[in-house]
Amino acid sequence: MRNGKAQVMIMKKSKMILSVLLAAAVLASCFVFNAFAADSKLNSGEPEEHTHNFVEKSRTDATCTSSGEIVYECSECGEPKIDFLDILGHDMVYHAGVDPTCTSKGTREHWHCLRCGKDFLDQSGDTFIEKEDTVLDKLDHMHQSFGKTVSATCFYAGSVAGEKCTVCGKIFKKSSVVPKKAFGKIKLKKGKNSFTASWKKVSKAKGYQLKYSLKKSFKKAKSKTLKGKKLTVKSLKSKKTYYVKVRAFTKINGKKVYSGWSKVGKVKVK
Ligand SMILES: [Zn+2]
Ligand SMILES: [Zn+2]
Ligand SMILES: [Zn+2]
Repeated sequence: MRNGKAQVMIMKKSKMILSVLLAAAVLASCFVFNAFAADSKLNSGEPEEHTHNFVEKSRTDATCTSSGEIVYECSECGEPKIDFLDILGHDMVYHAGVDPTCTSKGTREHWHCLRCGKDFLDQSGDTFIEKEDTVLDKLDHMHQSFGKTVSATCFYAGSVAGEKCTVCGKIFKKSSVVPKKAFGKIKLKKGKNSFTASWKKVSKAKGYQLKYSLKKSFKKAKSKTLKGKKLTVKSLKSKKTYYVKVRAFTKINGKKVYSGWSKVGKVKVK
């Protein structure tokens, strides 16, 4: 029992000694460090404290999508400092979609950033689109013919159908009128106190009207109506020149319709 107590006492004593030694060591090291610090200050000659004089060394501006930074350095001690610049984000302007037509281009709905000048399909700027792709091409015209295509005859004019766009009305081909066909030439053969006139058959003609006169102006002209394409006019004055013309007629919707006159022919009767 005695031995045990003595052992405890020794342990307590040695602990005390250890802590005293430790405290002494700390004090000593403090003293040495202070002395050293004071010594180095004396040797360098630098001021003990200074306000850093930061000078800008480089700058990277922030953009719509990336942050920037300004790097400074103290002109006195070279201490660096960095200021970070926040991402700016896009400055979006909305462009509504416009459907293209056959006369005007359309616009795809998009957002345009005033800062970086880029275009996007969404307001957040996630989907980039090329400037030219924001434009929608014009649509094709809707071609359709108008008017009739009718061939001309000696009795009525014909026409050619036109072509236009049914949407905007633009005319690609005008509808045009084809004039009546001319009657053509008359053939004249002189005879004794007579002449014989003949001409080419006119398609769809119901008959012909022939006029003849001693005057070029057809004053006091005489008229003959016939079905055929040849006529001999008799009992004429001999050695006289007669002016002759002919035209055809037909019936359209119950109405008599004439062709134009043939060219005037002349014949000197025997
Ligand atoms: Zn400094
Ligand atoms: Zn932008
Ligand atoms: Zn059109």
